Amino acid sequence: MSDAIGSDGEFDVTRVREDFPLLARQVHGKSLVYFDSANTSQKPRAVIDAVDRYYRHFNANVSRAVHTLGEESTAAYEGARDKLAKFINASSRDEIVLTSGTTQATNLVAYSYALPRLKAGDEILVTTMEHHANIVPWQLVCERAGAKLKVAPITERGELIVEKFIEALTPSVKLAAVTHVSNVLGTINPVAELARATRKRGIPLLVDGSQAMPHLPVDVKALGCDFYALTGHKLFGPTGTGALWARKEWLRDMPPFLGGGEMIRTVSFDGTTFAEPPHRFEAGTPNIAGFVGLSAALDYIDALGHARFGAYEASLLEHLTEALRAVPGLRIFGEAAHKVPVVSFLVDGAHAHDLATLLDHEGIAVRSGHHCAHPLMQFFGVPATLRASLAFYNTHEEIDRFVAALVKVRRLLA
Ligand code: PMP
Repeated sequence: MSDAIGSDGEFDVTRVREDFPLLARQVHGKSLVYFDSANTSQKPRAVIDAVDRYYRHFNANVSRAVHTLGEESTAAYEGARDKLAKFINASSRDEIVLTSGTTQATNLVAYSYALPRLKAGDEILVTTMEHHANIVPWQLVCERAGAKLKVAPITERGELIVEKFIEALTPSVKLAAVTHVSNVLGTINPVAELARATRKRGIPLLVDGSQAMPHLPVDVKALGCDFYALTGHKLFGPTGTGALWARKEWLRDMPPFLGGGEMIRTVSFDGTTFAEPPHRFEAGTPNIAGFVGLSAALDYIDALGHARFGAYEASLLEHLTEALRAVPGLRIFGEAAHKVPVVSFLVDGAHAHDLATLLDHEGIAVRSGHHCAHPLMQFFGVPATLRASLAFYNTHEEIDRFVAALVKVRRLLA
């Protein structure tokens, strides 16, 4: 791959785009502008080829067979765990539970860590800007235990009010769950600062890393949190992949979440003993091909280098924000000082879904809707927004095409 890096070591977006076959597609006779990467990212050829190679050359179930194919597929699947551990600087591969995505990772913590510990009157602290995946699992376990959710507020600019978050960390709070980056606002939360406050009070902190991983280098040791949930399909890998990183001391004490094959030590009708973490939490046949693809995605990102594409993404965000600000009657939601290239907005007199549909006819893919963040929509008093979410494979020319198309289709609705 490292073709995507010019001979001078500079980030070369033209070469990067050649690595993503789908970006060459036409939609409604126009070349595609894909601005929906926060929903799911496109995949580089290295990922597509890795999945293809797996099915053609070593498809077999993991951890069961001693034959060559079984050994090869197990090595590839377990290799993804090693790569992820290294990628986020975990202390050990045993701290990585492979899951179907962030949703499964947060539910694992909700049912296996929180539920056994929660009592009536306890609280779980979240923030106004959470995705439903970081709200609903906590509500479900709170309901069972007679506990309740507490919400740390944000400002109109879409930044967490850190002092209020810290004030809310009272003794009744048994867990705090915060997104690293907002999928709607693009806000980067000061996770290390929050983790210092939670640790001081002995409250575990779960971080939803879904939207941070595609943009920022993540070092769980430096962040100082307790749980980090991530999803592979936004990270240029296949759908149905993800992971929970958790401190060993928490995983050791967590009972199984799902029962079945692969997660046991011995089974008899009188009782079952369980495997050690992380396999204790990986019942059934996993998405082996998906993790083979995710490994390739991690290699791809490593070769590109966060430092190189981070600066490029910052220039995309600046350009996009300025261009949108120049559109009369356009309101941006989320003007935090620290952001990834994700911009939500509304245009006076035009419904978000209508604009998204008309933009699609211009070959431009943006998302419209509540973005699985109803409470955040309620905070801003709107039912939906449009969201342009970019990745390192997008260009400044695409931004200009998008904004010109927006101005054009808006006139059609006037
Ligand atoms: N959290 C955030 C912030 C997200 O953006 C998403 C995906 N939209 C999720 C959680 C859920 O991820 P997944 O559906 O891959 O489990």
